[in-house]
Amino acid sequence: MSISYWRMKDRYYRLMGSLCKACGSEFFPSVYRCRKCGSEDLVDKEMPKTGKVLTYTVLHQVMDGFEDEEPLLLAIISLDNGVKVLGQIVDTQPDRIQTGDLSRQSSEG
Ligand SMILES: [Zn+2]
Repeated sequence: MSISYWRMKDRYYRLMGSLCKACGSEFFPSVYRCRKCGSEDLVDKEMPKTGKVLTYTVLHQVMDGFEDEEPLLLAIISLDNGVKVLGQIVDTQPDRIQTGDLSRQSSEG
């Protein structure tokens, strides 16, 4: 694990992003300048823990060190605030997942 990973660990696991106080747009990962209106008046905002599966893929050949997680499920989730995130789907099997499914961030990390 790199130093920068540990520095950012809480932000990734807690889905800490940004809220633009000027226009209300939300971003993840966090940004220093609003991509919509250009404002630099942003505050930390924890992203919603629920969303929908937009698309997913199943990896049957995984990187070294991830053999225990094969097949590995990666999905793009549209969170309830519209922000899209890429993440691993856990605690289910590939044949039990469909686009449009509700997703909830696991509390395990
Ligand atoms: Zn803005």
